Amino acid sequence: MSIIIQSKELEEKIASLFTAVGSTPEEAHQVASNLVLANLSGHDSHGVGMAPRYVDAVLEKNLSPNAKIQTLVDTGTLLGLDGQRGFGQNVGVQAMELAFERVHAHGSCIMSLSNAHHLGRIGHYAEMAVAHQWISIHFVSVNSRPIVAPYGGGDGRFGTNPCCIGIPVGVGENAREPFILDFATSRVAQGKMRVAHNEGKSVEPGTLIDEHGNPTTNPGVVVVPQSNGKMGALMPFGQYKGFGLAVACELLGGALSGGGTWHRQADGRRAVLNSMLTIVIDPKRLGTQANFAQETLAFIDWLRNSPDAPDSQGVTLAGEPERQKRAERLKSGVPIDDATWQEIINAGKLVGVSI
Ligand code: NAD
Repeated sequence: MSIIIQSKELEEKIASLFTAVGSTPEEAHQVASNLVLANLSGHDSHGVGMAPRYVDAVLEKNLSPNAKIQTLVDTGTLLGLDGQRGFGQNVGVQAMELAFERVHAHGSCIMSLSNAHHLGRIGHYAEMAVAHQWISIHFVSVNSRPIVAPYGGGDGRFGTNPCCIGIPVGVGENAREPFILDFATSRVAQGKMRVAHNEGKSVEPGTLIDEHGNPTTNPGVVVVPQSNGKMGALMPFGQYKGFGLAVACELLGGALSGGGTWHRQADGRRAVLNSMLTIVIDPKRLGTQANFAQETLAFIDWLRNSPDAPDSQGVTLAGEPERQKRAERLKSGVPIDDATWQEIINAGKLVGVSI
């Protein structure tokens, strides 16, 4: 069962939770609209269902409302930033805007951001860069719970470490919708297991191992503690290749930024800290923009002209499913499953807000 709610009304309700824990109205709306945009884009795992966890994280004093990023290093094209455990949707945007100043000045920027609270859907930051016709590459570590098993391992050792690449396609009058590749390096996002568990659904074989290291299709093994008090784990996508990319995200996002890597047992903390290495490039300043624009168009057309495989709907490019879902849900409203809605109502009760 689920309720359907229009996105603006949903944003108002979710923002009221954040003002109740100390965010300014501006920050509360910035975070709420980002979460609602994730729902609109079809990524319910990174949408308003995260709000109760954010409220808990503020109450346990591991998430600081209204934080300002701290600049640790600034050499022009290299920026080292600390997110001060602020709302990722706020400090992440501050960090990207600072990086954009450097791209305007120098043509590129390598920016590391440590200690941001959950940054949400990483595609959001790539979309910000692509709106300027720039390329944006992101490696992100998740410091929360060891929930993903190494390839060949039997328990969770690290987070769902997302990776994202945004590339503009064409330029000016010939611009098309951008390529936005944005995914967790686990086979599925942890939040999708929460949603599946709340909906009482099982998941595809090969996605999970249980608390004993055995394969299972029950998403509950990574949502609630199991018989021996332990949790199961998600598998990385793409076997050892996805595992390798997950490790790279931990080392580039976590170790290089100063945010740190995960190497301890779970501690029950509700906060989710993200650290992110971002590379932004202006193809105009690289001197290849005309050719780059032409080649991106030619290659995308070439891909689209591939004949449909049997029983498939043809070639889809990264970024398209999200745009399609947004168009649909902006009209029809956002579905929220009953269990998630109840968790949001309970979070409201905790901070004196009637949802
Ligand atoms: P997913 O498995 O749905 O994959 C999404 C990517 O695949 C998108 O780029 C999408 O456009 C593309 N795609 C989907 N269907 C396609 C098709 N048929 N053909 C071609 N491309 C297709 O996403 P996910 O791994 O569940 O991640 C969901 C979201 O969770 C992402 O936005 C990610 O940034 C976010 N996330 C955030 C954190 C965090 O700590 N902040 C952690 C993990 C994931």
